[in-house]
Order: sequence, then C-alpha cells, then structure tokens
Amino acid sequence: MSCPECRIGRPVEINLAVEGRALRMRRCTRCGERWWDRDGERVGIGVVLSGIASQAELARRG
Ligand SMILES: [Zn+2]
Repeated sequence: MSCPECRIGRPVEINLAVEGRALRMRRCTRCGERWWDRDGERVGIGVVLSGIASQAELARRG
C-alpha cells in the first residue's frame, strides 16, 4: 500500500496493542504523513489517544 497523502511514499508500520486490539501506526517516509488503523479500519488520532488514556487509567487502578 502507498501513502494516501502523496501516493508515492511507502509507509513504515508500527504495531501496538491498545485495550487488547491491534492498532497500527503508519508513517510515510516521504512526506511524513501519519495515520492509524485499528482492526483494519482507519481511525483518527482522537480514537487512538482515548484508547491509550483509558488503558492507562485501568493500569493505575490495578
Ligand atoms: Zn506520503
């Protein structure tokens, strides 16, 4: 797959797991565009951050 922004760059992938769900960050090596997908669906950064925040909250509560 190529970058949705410049359509030339090849994105690098970073895989994470948030709340037990596969979350993948992609970053274009050409234009620097960053995007995320979760369960194969493109999501905004707000979704990502709220997932991380709630996971951190659970960790604090033990
Ligand atoms: Zn790009």
